[in-house]
Amino acid sequence: MEQQLFEAVDQYICNLVAQEDEALQATVESITNNNIPQISISAGQGKFLQVMARLCNAKKILELGTLAGYSTIWMARALPKDGKLISLEYEALHAKVATENISHAGLGDVVEIRLGSAIDLLPVLKQEGHVFDMIFIDADKPPYAEYFQWALQLSHPGTLIIADNVIREGKVLESDHEDERVRGVDRFNRLLAETKSVTASIIQTVGAKEHDGMAIAVVNQHI
Ligand code: SAM
Repeated sequence: MEQQLFEAVDQYICNLVAQEDEALQATVESITNNNIPQISISAGQGKFLQVMARLCNAKKILELGTLAGYSTIWMARALPKDGKLISLEYEALHAKVATENISHAGLGDVVEIRLGSAIDLLPVLKQEGHVFDMIFIDADKPPYAEYFQWALQLSHPGTLIIADNVIREGKVLESDHEDERVRGVDRFNRLLAETKSVTASIIQTVGAKEHDGMAIAVVNQHI
C-alpha cells in the first residue's frame, strides 16, 4: 500500500516538474533494448541533480557510474555551453549505449565518457589537474569511501558531492551486514560524518525506486 502511494506521488512529481523529453525516454528504452539492468535514478532524482548543478553554478561535473547516460543527461543539461561532464564507466556496453544516448540528446560535445574502473581512472583525473564543481558517486558500492576520498582530492571549496544508494532499504542499520554493498555505503556514511572539511546530510528517498538515500556534502570554504 505504502509503495503504491510512493509510486503515485513520484508520478505526480514527475508530471509537474520532471517530465522526460524524447531523448530521456529513448534512453530509458535503450536500457531495456540492450538488456541492461534498470538501475538508473528516477526522473525526479534526475531533476533534483539538475537543480543541484545549477545551485552550485557547475561548469565541470564528474560522475562515477554512467550506465546508459540517464543521470548524465539530466546533469549535463544544467551546464553552460563551455561546460564539461566527465563520466566514468566500467562496462563497455553501458559506455557504448550511453555514448549513443548522449549524442542523441545533443550533448556529445559536453560529455566525455571514460571507460575503465573508477578506482583506476580517478588518479588519472588528478594527474591531469581536473577540479570539479559537482561530483555524483553512483558506481559500485563497496569502494564508496575510497571514491569519496578521491572526490575530495578533485574538489575545491564549494564543490558539491552527492552519493546515491547510501541507505539500501534501511539495511545500513544492521551493523556488519552480510552484503558488501551495504557495508560499503555504511563505511562511506561514517567517513562522511567524521570528515570535517565538508558539511553533509543524508536524505531518505522513496518513490518508484526502493527505499534508499542520497548523501549530499558541500566542501567547506573554511575548515
Ligand atoms: N548513474 C546512472 C544513472 O542514474 O543513470 C546509474 C549508474 S548504475 C547504478 C552503476 C554503474 O556503475 C553501472 O553502469 C556499472 O557498470 C558501473 N560500474 C560498476 N562498477 C564500476 C567501477 N568499478 N568503475 C566504474 N563504473 C562502474
